[in-house]
Amino acid sequence: MKYFSTRGGHDLLSFEETVLTGLAPDGGLYIPESIPQLPEGWQSLWKNYTFVDLSVEVLSMYISPKEISRQELRALVEKSYKTFRHPDITPLKKLNDKTFILELFHGPTFAFKDVALQLLGNLFEFFLIRRNMRKAEGEKQERLTVVGATSGDTGSAAIYGLRNKSNISIFILHPKGRVSPIQEAQMTTVTDANVHNLAVKGTFDDCQDIVKSLFADQEFNRKHRLGAVNSINWARILAQTVYYFLSYFHLRRQIAATSPDQSLDDLDIQYVVPTGNFGDILAGYYAKRMGLPIGKLVVATNSNDILARFWKSGAYEKVDSTASNVDATQATAPAEGASDGKQAVGGVKETLSPAMDILVSSNFERLLWYLADEGSETSTEDPRERRRQACEIVDGWMKKVKSDGRVEVPTKVLELARRDFLAERVSDEETLETIRYYFKSEPSYVADPHTAVGLSAAQRLAVNNPPSTLQVVLSTAHPAKFAEAVTQALQNEPNFNFERDLLPEEFRGLLDRKRNVIDVEAAEVDLVKRVIEQYAENDDTERGGAIPRRSV
Ligand SMILES: *Cc1c(COP(=O)(O)O)cnc(C)c1O
Repeated sequence: MKYFSTRGGHDLLSFEETVLTGLAPDGGLYIPESIPQLPEGWQSLWKNYTFVDLSVEVLSMYISPKEISRQELRALVEKSYKTFRHPDITPLKKLNDKTFILELFHGPTFAFKDVALQLLGNLFEFFLIRRNMRKAEGEKQERLTVVGATSGDTGSAAIYGLRNKSNISIFILHPKGRVSPIQEAQMTTVTDANVHNLAVKGTFDDCQDIVKSLFADQEFNRKHRLGAVNSINWARILAQTVYYFLSYFHLRRQIAATSPDQSLDDLDIQYVVPTGNFGDILAGYYAKRMGLPIGKLVVATNSNDILARFWKSGAYEKVDSTASNVDATQATAPAEGASDGKQAVGGVKETLSPAMDILVSSNFERLLWYLADEGSETSTEDPRERRRQACEIVDGWMKKVKSDGRVEVPTKVLELARRDFLAERVSDEETLETIRYYFKSEPSYVADPHTAVGLSAAQRLAVNNPPSTLQVVLSTAHPAKFAEAVTQALQNEPNFNFERDLLPEEFRGLLDRKRNVIDVEAAEVDLVKRVIEQYAENDDTERGGAIPRRSV
């Protein structure tokens, strides 16, 4: 299996090159040359498989065995999911007759990004070790210097995915004092020698700008071989397809056990996904295209609703041109993934579900490629020519977004998008109401605000769903990670006690633990470069010995 860029289509990369490159040089995202189809008899063969078994089956369809053998792949996957606290890795729980919740937060940082970043860290390490083994004695060893900016979730999941990995240093910039105390503690209490937290005096936007300048600095980039861990990395999407398969089997098993009269063949399963950068739900799209019989995929957004607006109108636009007055008072610094935030008039809105506060959804470009391909009028039979034509269409659309802030796709393309997806926007008020509703339900369930966006969208759609439709809502974070919003929703509930009911053992005492952090006294690229120069090359020689941290 080879990969190509959504904006190019000429060069074909191996899986290893795709994973190590991240973003394509032409600005596009890598996608597989074709979507593999499930093997004959998969349903009976795989039905009792564990998360690890399914990972091996699904991933090996996208990775040539010449690159990673099945045996090596199994070892990588086993190592990656050993760090999870639940035996099912991503367990499925029943909320009521029609609604199930797929919990993705049982990894080390209590958010769904762990599912992908635990594997990505091990893949990076595997590739680097192999490259270095092939080198002659005395030849310079290859290293990877991962640099990223975070406002919370991505940074901690990346640090836990890369801590203590050979040949890899990780530098995560966060705006000092502007991430939640729990998230800051999760990042800065990791003391492995290859992990470097930079607390930058400035905003998240400043951090993101510094990271962008570092990647754009070709000399610096080459010297340190900078690597990215944001959600455009193909390995992250691939790792996430697995829980769609696992939950599908778990759901069938639960229905067979509790409603023996129900036929399993006419079940219509709707997957509802709290969405920001479109990575999580895109994994479901791949699962569906591979042949997993799932119904509609539901995009649930908060009031940063570029995707919900797209499915309404067919226009992909940063600012809602149909709104009578754009609320400029709500505009704040863009969060993770909102790469072009500064130019926009409206800006990103700050909500109770901050991990979904985005202006544009980077992974949406991958879906656009498939829509362009299927919706095009081309008569060519040559797959390479077809591919090139779809890339040209996507490149045109993305250039329009960059220059005009918006693009409108043809009606046929919008219809194709509606065949597989629905989209709903959920307000903060509805988010709080939904947290209360499920807390008071039987069985009582406390959802984090991101998950509540999904649950709220699901409730709205359920009213018009046929009786055979079941909903699986993806739960993307543990409620204790977003304590403020949960407490705000449940403050008047006499039966609710945060410490007693929610706080995980792992969070107790976290705030008092020793910190590993380098203060950067001004948001300046040169200061950050100095930190990287000082620590990146030393990491392996210093391994095991604590490096004294200081301010610059
Ligand atoms: C990252 C994140 C999301 C959004 O996922 P995407 O793949 O970017 O759509 C939702 N909820 C939480 C808690 C997250 O950390």
